[in-house]
Amino acid sequence: SLDKERANSVAKIKVVVRKRPLNKREIAKKEEDIITIEPNSNALTVHETKLKVDLTEYEEKHEFVFDAVLDEDVSNDEVYFESVEPIVPLIFQRTKATCFAYGQTGSGKTYTMQPLPLKASQDILRLMLNSYRNQGFQLFVSFFEIYGGKLFDLLNDRKKLCMREDGKQQVCIVGLQEYRVSNVETVKELIEKGSSTRSTGTTGANEESSRSHAILQLCIKRTADGTESKPARLVGKLSFIDLAGSERGADTTDNDKQTRMEGAEINKSLLALKECIRALDNDQGHIPFRGSKLTEVLRDSFVGDSRTVMISCISPSTGSCEHTLNTLRYADRVK
Ligand code: ADP
Ligand code: MG
Repeated sequence: SLDKERANSVAKIKVVVRKRPLNKREIAKKEEDIITIEPNSNALTVHETKLKVDLTEYEEKHEFVFDAVLDEDVSNDEVYFESVEPIVPLIFQRTKATCFAYGQTGSGKTYTMQPLPLKASQDILRLMLNSYRNQGFQLFVSFFEIYGGKLFDLLNDRKKLCMREDGKQQVCIVGLQEYRVSNVETVKELIEKGSSTRSTGTTGANEESSRSHAILQLCIKRTADGTESKPARLVGKLSFIDLAGSERGADTTDNDKQTRMEGAEINKSLLALKECIRALDNDQGHIPFRGSKLTEVLRDSFVGDSRTVMISCISPSTGSCEHTLNTLRYADRVK
């Protein structure tokens, strides 16, 4: 059918890189932009400065190619069109899709991720009012975080949650609040509420939230007879994941035990995620979900007709060179 053809034309895995502009602090420190992107290309070059044994500097170039490379002047709307927009109609056809923002703290993950579920809900609600009018479709929003391997509901005072599998490869997060929504204003309020509830310690919001994965899910359900009288069942799901700062996975030698444990958990989850996405691409029967809480939670999004978009966020500055190369190598490995 036409729907099937359209679904097949959207790549199963898409890797997008987004570069943010230099910020005021970096400019004040006379940091330089070491990332070049040719206009209308999907390649980028990192210009790394290295030292010879006699301490003279030389430049080493690293070139990478991805499905799309978005320069610093690309707007959030364009990011949406490039990443999530093509997937939205598939959610009505039982597809489960996941969009990740990966990168070091301060690279633009939250800036990139936050507007996406709002724009997607807008498109979903529009489809429900037009093509799928009176067919019993309903939209639900939930928002939770994984912090230190534990789940917390961001729309219910950070209530601690447990996960259960129902044996039919469906993941059930017991007690997770799901809000049924019928307009974008409510979705906006829920996103704002959840974002402000993310782990924030005394050290500042970005510091703590960089150690958690935030997961916002849009679920489309449908009643069997298209009316409101029967219970609705899951049709498709779209998950938006603002991952923990990738540099946090290296916190495994920190003096603080808590920080070390969190670092180990983050490291484990980002490695498991990479392995799961690679397994998807190879169409292997076995997908190694069990590696971490993150991948266990996403289990049902990796089976059946699934789509994955990885948006890798990078900072352009000299001082971020090593983290930027790590992010790009991770993205390269996923593909
Ligand atoms: P992260 O979530 O990866 O830690 P943030 O999304 O919080 O990073 O971004 C860090 C800072 O950089 C924020 O002040 C944000 O507004 C700014 N920023 C990030 N990406 C962009 C961009 N593409 N254009 C302009 N400002 C950006
Ligand atoms: Mg963030």
